[in-house]
Formats: sequence, structure tokens, C-alpha cells
Amino acid sequence: MDGDIDISPARFEQQLQWLARTNRVVRLDETITQSRRGAIAITFDDGFRDNLTVALPLLEKFSLPMTLFVVAGFVDSDGYLSEEELREIAAHPLITIGAHGLWHRHFNRISSEEARFELTESKRLLELSIGKPVDLMAWPYGECNAELEALAGECGYRAGWSVWKGNDGTFSRWRVPLGRNDHMLRFLAKASGVYGLTEARLHRYHERRRQKKDALRAGGKVTPFGSLDTSLSRQKY
Ligand SMILES: [Zn+2]
Repeated sequence: MDGDIDISPARFEQQLQWLARTNRVVRLDETITQSRRGAIAITFDDGFRDNLTVALPLLEKFSLPMTLFVVAGFVDSDGYLSEEELREIAAHPLITIGAHGLWHRHFNRISSEEARFELTESKRLLELSIGKPVDLMAWPYGECNAELEALAGECGYRAGWSVWKGNDGTFSRWRVPLGRNDHMLRFLAKASGVYGLTEARLHRYHERRRQKKDALRAGGKVTPFGSLDTSLSRQKY
């Protein structure tokens, strides 16, 4: 996948084995209400078919729960879960289904009406498919802001996750991304919370600098894109 955000089954199994031994993995919704220091929740975004065929058998092996943030409009597309598979995986005791937008759009580039439609329609379609309430969501590309976070609450969500954007509040909780470059040592650093303290802050520092630069540039010359976040050209999450 683009952006190195895939993990081989062998490495994923190694990571799960380590996580199972630490006894720190909880369901994602448990991290909302309980302040269990050091607790870890596993999430996958987009609703790829290998969540069912590859990830689930490994999670079953170690009895670890995970949350899948499914793009409602991608269900039944090539490479993604079919509606029947979604229903099957949603009924599994280790699985929680959350929403991830209707069409995986850049939320900071669409109108608030479009954002509202994405948030409500994805929730409605997923609930219709799996026959259970869907009240957790993750922002496509991790993109959110204060206005969008408030909108997610209005649309009936209980909590939302970004990656490192937003303010780490109820609707922009930070997650630690993992990918093919995370060898075991890096994985351990990320799982220990070091990432949250260092790399996430570094990302935010660079973003603030970029925004400042963009604002300066936009002050001198009007561009068709204004101060659009240029970091978004890296298609991730
Ligand atoms: Zn995504």
C-alpha cells in the first residue's frame, strides 16, 4: 500500500504475540471511559477484506479484540469486505465496527453539509448492514478540526479517532500508526507510549510551521488553494 501502512501477516502475528503477553490490550471503547494507564487497543481502517481473512484468525489465536473503521461506500468493492462478510465479522465477539466516512473524503476540503452527510449516511448504512448501533468513528486521512469534531457529536457519535491531528479530544483521539517499516524495536517504542510523546509532537510541530509558511505565502499572493494543507498529498489512513 502507499505510505508504507501495510504489515505482513508474520510481523503482525509477532506483534500480537508480544501484546498478548503484556496483557494490556482492551476493546477500543474501554479506552474512552476508563483511564487504564498503558492500555492498548487495536484498530484497522478502511474495511479491507484481509481484516477478515488474515487479521481475524490471528486475533482469534491470541484472543485479542480489534475495531474496524469501515468506509461504508467501499463495502462490496474489489479488495474490501462484502456486505455479507461485514455482517459475519461484525457478529464476532472480538470485533467492533466503527464508521470511516461514506467515501473516504478529505473532510477538511468539503462543506459542512457534505461532512454531515458523510457522517450520518455512513453510520446509517453500516447500522443497516450489521444490525447494531455504530457510534465510534475515525477520520479518513486523520483529518479533523474543532468544527468537524463538534459535528461528529451532533451526528450521534460517542467518540472519534484521528492519527495525530486534532487536539486529542473526545472526537480526535490520537492513534499510533504502524506500517511495514516498524521493525520490532520501533513497534516496542510505539507500544510503550514513547511515540505519542515524541513523533506525534514532531508531526504537529512541522504542520504548524507549514501552516505559518502557507499563511505568509497566501498573504502575498492569492492561490486557488489558499492555505490548503499540503501534507495531505501523502495519501494515508
Ligand atoms: Zn482510511
